Amino acid sequence: MANGHQLRFYNSLGRQIEDFVPSAAVTGMYTCGPTVYAYPHLGNMRAYVFSDTVRRALRWKGITVRHVINITDVGHAVADTDTGEDKLELAAATERRSVAEIAAFYTGAFFDDLAALNVLPAAEYPRASAYVPQMIEFAATLEKRGYTYRLPSGLYFDTARDPRYGELAQLHAEGQREAARVEQVAGRRRKTDFALWRTEGPGRRRVMRWDSPWGWGAPGWHLECSVMSIALLGPHFDIHTGGIDHRELHHVNEIAQSEAYLADGQGWVPPWVRFWLHNEFLQLGAAKMAKSAGGAPRLADLTAAGYHPMAFRLFLLGGHYRSQLDFTTTALDAAQATLRRLAVRIRPLHPLPAAETLAAAATLQAAQAAQAAQPGARAAAALLDGIDAAIAADLSTPRILALLQDALRDPVLTQDGLRTVTAAADALLGLGLATLDPADLEQRRSAADLTAGERDQIERLVADRTQARQQHDWARADQLRARLDDLGVQLTDTAEGPVWQLR
Ligand SMILES: [Zn+2]
Repeated sequence: MANGHQLRFYNSLGRQIEDFVPSAAVTGMYTCGPTVYAYPHLGNMRAYVFSDTVRRALRWKGITVRHVINITDVGHAVADTDTGEDKLELAAATERRSVAEIAAFYTGAFFDDLAALNVLPAAEYPRASAYVPQMIEFAATLEKRGYTYRLPSGLYFDTARDPRYGELAQLHAEGQREAARVEQVAGRRRKTDFALWRTEGPGRRRVMRWDSPWGWGAPGWHLECSVMSIALLGPHFDIHTGGIDHRELHHVNEIAQSEAYLADGQGWVPPWVRFWLHNEFLQLGAAKMAKSAGGAPRLADLTAAGYHPMAFRLFLLGGHYRSQLDFTTTALDAAQATLRRLAVRIRPLHPLPAAETLAAAATLQAAQAAQAAQPGARAAAALLDGIDAAIAADLSTPRILALLQDALRDPVLTQDGLRTVTAAADALLGLGLATLDPADLEQRRSAADLTAGERDQIERLVADRTQARQQHDWARADQLRARLDDLGVQLTDTAEGPVWQLR
């Protein structure tokens, strides 16, 4: 089993499956983080469960990773355009809070969701606002090398200077397909040209503003990821991840400006980043879950409705990261039920051993094989090999889930063999199966989920019981209480009368 199956990823750069072999002792990995002006919704969080799966796959293969996730707290204009108000400044005005308060609050909400979803912490979470001097220096370097031009609205990157522009998005050479979100900017030479610096308009004073060679203003949104990733991971690194929506515009522009910066006047550099991995959308109904659309559900909505955060994680991992997923309560109910069955079955196996790497799992299995009957040892070895093959084949988490369920049904596996296989599967899935308590996974509904008819029925039973008590008809009161109990209603008598909630 030694190193197992060759790790392979689908590289958006070239659109094909490639062997992943680290280029350095520590693999640098950068994930585009949130713009912290609103709560992250469920669709946003798919990107971080995905990058976490990449992390876990690399760890499984014994590869050391340095992971960076940025926090965009400045520079991201509304509707992802190059001009107009910042999302942060707009949110601050709407919520009557300072920009710093808005950023701190929603950054906290993001970290809460990462923790609830059992996402391994990144090494760094750089804030864009802390890197503005470096961004100015970066843009000034591009200007010195002739990659830019100035307009009254700011400093623009001249995409005509980059013969490889749009390679990632597979834009045609001169076609420069107009991205949906590209807006009209007076004087811009090509529609693909983008702002490195957004200069304040006359009479418009930004809240977050810096002086620069191009006047007072703020950096363009794309700039921060190039500057912070190079600052924290070095000029070239191995893996960049993000949602599929970034593949067409944001990442295209990150590549263009970074390769121009690194070219150092020599005209050509090796690709800035070797592997570009993108997760597909989470669909809510027919619409993409875009935060700007508002009203998209977030993790706290699920937990308030009685779902365990790991049920959402399991739901995500039940689909391949390159497939669109439809978010429905039926699918989430099924995920919670599956998770509960897993927890019930795995609970008696606690404590699980540590098997975060293939090497550790294989060593455990070999030691067990020396004492166990042959069929059990063979079955455990085959399951571990299957798990390794699945993660190596472009992160097939659905396959690992299926193998885990096979293992739990396999009559020839020994208890120790099953423990090892379960621990190995969960090191990759990150469902926290080593500590999950089935009691935390009882299907609960909140009163908010009741239909008007169900609510009326409960209210009527509660009122009837109150009346029966007032008439000292204790038998009938108890009978009605039992009926409510059957409906999952928990009744508490208070000085102000009875209050009820769903269990
Ligand atoms: Zn980015």
